[in-house]
Amino acid sequence: MNETSKKALEGKEKYAVVVEAGLFHYPLNRGEKPHLTGNRCNICDKRFFPKRTGCPYCFKDGDMEDVELDRYGIIYACTLVHIPSPSGIKAPYAYGYVDIPVDRIRVFGLFTGAEPSSFHAGQKVELVIEPIKTDKNGQEVIGYKFKPVENRH
Ligand SMILES: [Zn+2]
Repeated sequence: MNETSKKALEGKEKYAVVVEAGLFHYPLNRGEKPHLTGNRCNICDKRFFPKRTGCPYCFKDGDMEDVELDRYGIIYACTLVHIPSPSGIKAPYAYGYVDIPVDRIRVFGLFTGAEPSSFHAGQKVELVIEPIKTDKNGQEVIGYKFKPVENRH
């Protein structure tokens, strides 16, 4: 590897497979905070995640624009799972719906960073990008999750 490509890799996360293209920007540049990539309707300003090709409220295609969603949300509902997922996520794990007040949308996601049984509705969470499982080739698969927001003093 030459110096230039070494430099290009510095500050980037180790390469891994992304669970689904286009949900978020990866790898992150140094200091970059993760964001989900949604889109918004230019007519009514409704936001969507995952992205939609047209707005279901305005019934008009092609007037959609990509937006980075806010990283902070509040758990709307969550579920604790005691068996591994068919796609390879280890049990126990928690997932659910998170409201993102800034974007006025509700997104679905896995929870991390605390005991799976400790997540509850009303809890403040923030977005992180981390491995969610290992695929059949032994490759780490990167996805997005929400972790509890640490209390700031
Ligand atoms: Zn619309």
